[in-house]
Amino acid sequence: MVLESNRQKIAKCLIGCGANVGARREQLDQAIDMLRFMPGVQLIHVSEFLETRPVGGPPGQPPYLNAACLIETTFEPAEVLDMLLAVENTLQRSREIRWGPRTIDLDLLIYDDCVMKTERLQVPHPRMTTRRFVLEPAAEIAADLDHPVSGCTIRELLENISQRHLHVAVVGIPGSGAPEIADAVADVTLSRLIHAPAPLPIHAVGALSEKHLATKKEPTEQLLLLSQKYADPLLKASWPVDPHGTVTDYWIESIRLAVENNPAIDTNKQFENAFASISQETVTPHVILLLNVNRQTLSERIAYRAHAAQQSDVFSDLVAVQAMTTTDQGIATLLALQERFIDCLLRTQNTQCRAKAVIHLDSDDLGKAALDAVAAIEGIS
Ligand code: ATP
Ligand code: MG
Ligand code: MG
Repeated sequence: MVLESNRQKIAKCLIGCGANVGARREQLDQAIDMLRFMPGVQLIHVSEFLETRPVGGPPGQPPYLNAACLIETTFEPAEVLDMLLAVENTLQRSREIRWGPRTIDLDLLIYDDCVMKTERLQVPHPRMTTRRFVLEPAAEIAADLDHPVSGCTIRELLENISQRHLHVAVVGIPGSGAPEIADAVADVTLSRLIHAPAPLPIHAVGALSEKHLATKKEPTEQLLLLSQKYADPLLKASWPVDPHGTVTDYWIESIRLAVENNPAIDTNKQFENAFASISQETVTPHVILLLNVNRQTLSERIAYRAHAAQQSDVFSDLVAVQAMTTTDQGIATLLALQERFIDCLLRTQNTQCRAKAVIHLDSDDLGKAALDAVAAIEGIS
């Protein structure tokens, strides 16, 4: 079939398909046939069907059959989603439990180089970069297709999660719960767990102690010592080869971002060069789980810490910012740093921010964030 309109833009879309209830193969075939005969759609390639184990949903689900399709279409992204939801409805897809059993699931993975997020549609699909059940069938039919956020091809994304010893970094400002989420992921995946060896250089203006002001005069050397401490457990030269992986609750580039965010620290080219050479010796995280907290959660956690930190080591990452964070200005400083993390990892193609798979997690509810984090990492195996 040839698309009718020559005037409309034709977009290339990658669709992920899955089924784990009923006659899985027939349902996938029917869904794909509906795409094949849809006006405004040309079906270019369909992958083989791949049997996979369920990830993230309730326990005891039957295994999945997964596939991927490449289509060309004159539809806008929202229209592609409508079409996929309509096909799902025709095949009696019901939604009772998140990631629960389903007769069919059709996800819009990539729509050309479109990057968008609305209430009902996010493109590229936000969880595809750590899902082997998505990337394997996709690589079979569209290995060279670009994933617009990571700047990688599908093949490169699949290679990225196929490293023998993976480095997963949980990244967030103090108060985002990075240590707790890292613990949960390391636990479930039997990974080596490394906590940040020292606090990030974060200070609110006006909340600097005498000691900090004294050290401000010559921060470069101290920052480099700190950077080296962060780097040491992650050196390429001593990277393990066993298949269990390493989970860290930090990312060395956070130091650079924290320094840039800290007006009290006067960095220079010399620092940047020295930092870059330390950072380059480390294994770049293959996956970053990027945590995001809202202002209210952050304030509450910090207020709670003020009372509870003495008795327990819960929120131990917050002890480092005790002096500054009880003020509104302190909270604002942390939130500004959080924006820098997001900017660096999700919005820019900054070469220093090189992680190929970045999964964004809201960590206002730590229990849910831990489940989502574990599901994201389990998708790799
Ligand atoms: P996951 O998205 O993690 O694969 P799922 O496929 O089980 O989970 P669904 O219940 O199929 O999730 O979809 C829930 C909603 O997600 C849909 O109603 C749709 O509005 C929204 N959504 C957002 N982005 C996309 C996308 N890229 N493709 C498909 N649905 C999307
Ligand atoms: Mg899905
Ligand atoms: Mg879906």
